[in-house]
Amino acid sequence: MEIKNKRQLAILGSTGSIGTQTLKVVEEHPECFEVYAITANSRVEELIAQARKFMPEAVVIADETKYKRLKEALDDLPIKVYGGYESICQIVESKPIDIVVTAMVGFSGLRPTINAIKTGKAIALANKETMVVAGELINALANEYRTPILPVDSEHSAIFQCLAGEMTNKVEKLILTASGGPFRTFTKDQLENVTKEQALKHPNWSMGAKITIDSATMMNKGFEVIEAKWLFGVNADKIEVVVHPQSVIHSMVQFEDGAIKAQLGTPDMRLPIMYALTYPHRLQSSFERINWDTLKELTFERPDLERFPNLQHAYTALSKGGNMPCVVNAANEVCVAAFLNDRIKFCEMPRLIDRAMQQTHFITKPSLEDYLETDRHVREMVESWI
Ligand code: NDP
Ligand code: MG
Repeated sequence: MEIKNKRQLAILGSTGSIGTQTLKVVEEHPECFEVYAITANSRVEELIAQARKFMPEAVVIADETKYKRLKEALDDLPIKVYGGYESICQIVESKPIDIVVTAMVGFSGLRPTINAIKTGKAIALANKETMVVAGELINALANEYRTPILPVDSEHSAIFQCLAGEMTNKVEKLILTASGGPFRTFTKDQLENVTKEQALKHPNWSMGAKITIDSATMMNKGFEVIEAKWLFGVNADKIEVVVHPQSVIHSMVQFEDGAIKAQLGTPDMRLPIMYALTYPHRLQSSFERINWDTLKELTFERPDLERFPNLQHAYTALSKGGNMPCVVNAANEVCVAAFLNDRIKFCEMPRLIDRAMQQTHFITKPSLEDYLETDRHVREMVESWI
């Protein structure tokens, strides 16, 4: 398929796992995409190299102490250089941008995404935490401003692809597949003493550190259930998680006649990224194809909520609604950072998240300010327990 007008991209979090893979998609299809803006938190040297290669109009670094280095390194080029988190929130509003790829990690994605929605830019949503924290608000804004939100997460992209052409047909169930992570077969006792090095070794996907830990605790799958509810308007009782260790089936949709559609492929995030950027069209790709001679089996099992309580926490938060998913997200971000810094053990993460859920003031219909305040308060509280 040929794309007529080049799409101008803003890539938030261009130096991360999704960000760099998005740039690879751009490299593979320079006739379709142009990079208008790239942003990072603090990895300035990577950002400089990307800017010199892709020649965007604008580059932003959130960490202001790195601004001087960035500015000087790009001085010989006609590139606008900005520093500070607020500049990321503002850059997404630039007129020429067609699509904002939200590939920042965690709660930090929320405000830039809201700004992009309000200026009607299409959102290629990788930053699932935005939907977890404020899915209802994001949907209301996307409706108001008629802004399309296209999933990048592989499971949601799979569901999105399965739903193509099924507009008038009733969905009975969404079936999210989960790899089960590196500890799928570990006993409860074994989980008590796992290390961060073990947790960072995902069996099938190479991703940023935060989501890799979330995959090991299965919080990632819990977040994806919440993300699916808001993206596809399906209630939690109709979203099922099935552990599928090979990660070949990326997710499925079951319709009311009992038919199930699935999307399959080798685990490569460039495909869902590309589909989000070109929807409803598909582009030719050089990505590895499934080899049916070496693919021996596809297996399935039920997730174990006792060994992986975070998945249960996410379901509980979703059924409570209000600011509860925001509480879980903030507590989880603090826990993951603490685990990565060797300050808490693996199994303490779900315990602390549970405690935060019990002890936070519940707000039924939160505003943006309520989300910001809940996030701030929960971080402070959980930090004080560590
Ligand atoms: P990475 O940690 O690899 O990259 C995160 C990016 O965001 C980096 O560019 C980082 O900059 C930037 N960033 C981090 N914090 C901030 C901040 N506070 N302000 C501004 N920029 C910030 O993450 P991933 O690419 O793995 O994940 C990105 C998002 O996509 C997450 O929400 C994740 O859940 C989701 N996702 C990822 C998948 C994957 O395969 N990786 C799959 C599905 C979803 P710097 O490099 O300077 O630190
Ligand atoms: Mg996923």
